[in-house]
Amino acid sequence: MLVDSHCHLDRLKLDKFDGDLDAVLELARDRGVGKFLCVGISLDNADAVVEIASRYRDVVCSVGIHPLDVESGLAGVDKLIAMAERPNVVALGETGLDYYYSTETKDVQQQSFIAHLQAAGSAQLPVIVHTRDAREDTIDLIRTHGNLETAGVLHCFTENWEMARSALDLNYYISLSGIVTFKNAGELRDVARKLPLDRLLVETDSPYLAPVPYRGKANIPAYVREVAEFIAELRGIPYEQLAEITTENFFRLFPRAA
Ligand SMILES: [Zn+2]
Ligand SMILES: [Zn+2]
Repeated sequence: MLVDSHCHLDRLKLDKFDGDLDAVLELARDRGVGKFLCVGISLDNADAVVEIASRYRDVVCSVGIHPLDVESGLAGVDKLIAMAERPNVVALGETGLDYYYSTETKDVQQQSFIAHLQAAGSAQLPVIVHTRDAREDTIDLIRTHGNLETAGVLHCFTENWEMARSALDLNYYISLSGIVTFKNAGELRDVARKLPLDRLLVETDSPYLAPVPYRGKANIPAYVREVAEFIAELRGIPYEQLAEITTENFFRLFPRAA
């Protein structure tokens, strides 16, 4: 079994599937995907992800406010805790810091990230962290405000080994997406070779970032298989072993997903 640890099922482009999410999930199941974590990004889409998770036995969800969505509305610690109590919610996020696309909202991003880390501590939930061009601040805030027991994951990881090492030291997991298959991702492949296998997750981040050979096309959860096969080959281990380990890791990090 394989898990897509990060997908946006409410945002998939379904035109090739006659608008039918069932068909997209079925395609993934046929390729061995047995669990999907549908990730929330804003106050607005929390209802949508909770609703999708309620419809399928193999879909769970998270609620949170993406660092690039902070302007659409913020939630304080109490509100986040209340959101986390909704059915099938297994984590808070995605939250985090993205200075690549937006530095003007830096302060608000930090404030929102801290609220998520504190709420996750109170609710005993792991955190799904999005981080780009904000290495030091991300690690500092996790260290200062995070709960190291319930920890979290740096999703769609694209940073360097030093940052991976710091996150691992804070009990965090690292999730790799299709970016690892991209031609220009040599440094990331070095990280992928070095990561301890028991801290590794795989994801699609669909509908974004389809792996080779689908790069540039709409991404779907079925392609997590390509990501996993690619990493298995990179590490010189059988695909089945990588699938099994990353699945175990997923359920250890997100115990409520079981
Ligand atoms: Zn993200
Ligand atoms: Zn995402």
